[in-house]
Amino acid sequence: MSKEFDVVVIGAGPGGYIAAIRAAQLGKTVACIEKWKNPAGQLKLGGTCLNVGCIPSKALLASSEEFENAAKHLGDHGISVSDVKLDVSKMLARKDGIVEKMTKGIEFLFRKNKIAWLKGHGKFTGKNAAGVQIEVSGEGETEVVTAKNVIIATGSKARHLPGIPVDNKLIADNEGALSFDSVPKKLAVIGAGVIGLELGSVWRRLGADVTVLEALPQFLGAADEALAKEAAKQFKKQGLDIHLGVKIGEVKTTANGVSIAYTDNAGNAQELEADRLIVSIGRVPNTDNLGLDAIGLAADERGFIPVDDHCATKVPNVYAIGDVVRGPMLAHKAEDEGVAVAEIIDGQKPHIDYNCVPWVIYTEPEIAWVGKTEQQLKAEGREIKTGQFPMMANGRALGIGRAEGFVKMIADAKTDEILGVHVIAADASDLIAEAVVAMEFKAALEDIGRICHPHPSLSEVMREAALAVDKRALNM
Ligand SMILES: Cc1cc2nc3c(=O)[nH]c(=O)nc-3n(C[C@H](O)[C@H](O)[C@H](O)COP(=O)(O)OP(=O)(O)OC[C@H]3O[C@@H](n4cnc5c(N)ncnc54)[C@H](O)[C@@H]3O)c2cc1C
Repeated sequence: MSKEFDVVVIGAGPGGYIAAIRAAQLGKTVACIEKWKNPAGQLKLGGTCLNVGCIPSKALLASSEEFENAAKHLGDHGISVSDVKLDVSKMLARKDGIVEKMTKGIEFLFRKNKIAWLKGHGKFTGKNAAGVQIEVSGEGETEVVTAKNVIIATGSKARHLPGIPVDNKLIADNEGALSFDSVPKKLAVIGAGVIGLELGSVWRRLGADVTVLEALPQFLGAADEALAKEAAKQFKKQGLDIHLGVKIGEVKTTANGVSIAYTDNAGNAQELEADRLIVSIGRVPNTDNLGLDAIGLAADERGFIPVDDHCATKVPNVYAIGDVVRGPMLAHKAEDEGVAVAEIIDGQKPHIDYNCVPWVIYTEPEIAWVGKTEQQLKAEGREIKTGQFPMMANGRALGIGRAEGFVKMIADAKTDEILGVHVIAADASDLIAEAVVAMEFKAALEDIGRICHPHPSLSEVMREAALAVDKRALNM
């Protein structure tokens, strides 16, 4: 007889493993199917985020920042160091150690919450009165389990360019780019999105000469235009060579590396020679061999599983969350959907306000925002007021030598309700949390303007930006 569970989750990325834990906390019997293997062939929990995404990229961003600071900026503090050297294999080992700690941590959480990890590939085989049947195969004996409720959390994988084979050595997607065994002299990046900018920054800080080729004519089109403009200025200053509006032609491997033919935004044919290439042109939802048709489901034309506002598919008791469904491909969005769906299965009525999901790009300075951009609000015909405060006028930012950027706030012109907060600054990923809380509570600018902020701290800029909207910033 097949094993039965109240909830079976397919995929143990941040969406799936969090959904499994919340369902278990609510007293359900839970299994989670996961097949991820690391390069050593070991099965691992944590999905893209922990294995080849958020966590390893932030580890390398931190290492490369330390290197660049030691090599270029310690002198500003009167500290002289000479002979700053990089040991790439040690840097990669540190990153791998962090990944190992985190993925092992989820194994512990699964044991603690009595979640069964079914190792292998999950595939729907049918449904009946008892529930949905899912076959688990690929690791040992194939088994079929029955689930009263299913949460599909199969995530996404890197999109590749047709005709450009990724070997993750010379031509890499995120997986290879997190494991280059040496610093390329010349690195080409196709795609100026979040992943391209973060990974391009890592290798630039370590000494690579980085050229980024982007098909879209606009830089960081999803961001507020003021932020995108400031980011372009900062990245140029740092030496990231970004070309917009290009059309990629033939990509060839050569004796020395890779050659990329492209047409620039003026229509001229160009050729870029590089030691290595990172292809970061977005991600594709994972629904390969999932057997969706066996339960009457199909992916849409872009590969996503269609769901309603509460992550329910059209099949009763089958939900889908995270990168495999609409919305931003962000780990915290996947996690929040995981919690919400587990609670819905439990009969609760949770709600996610997608307008309050923050976006972050972990470059230097970091870029983060929540709510709407000025251009979105103007297109909607909203009457708004805006204000900005520079990090340069903040004592803490000057003290830590990271005074680039600003905070911009947008509010409704009449009610003062905060509609968008846009930060380009050191630690923007942490600063934005205050704005998320404020927007979740439907706060007005006046609320942030009246809250006592610690001094000296970067967070004072949040208050000053709120005051700046009504032209009453105190330190400017
Ligand atoms: C380089 C990089 C950096 C990133 N940095 C950030 C960041 O800083 N912040 C942020 O919010 N987001 C970041 N992201 C995005 C983030 O990783 C994803 O949004 C997040 O991992 C999505 O979570 P998920 O649970 O939906 O899917 P995933 O994390 O992709 O996990 C899905 C899991 O399902 C498994 N699976 C798939 N199909 C099956 C099947 N049929 N049977 C069994 N198992 C299956 C896969 O093996 C995988 O482990 C980054 C991504 C990349 C690539």
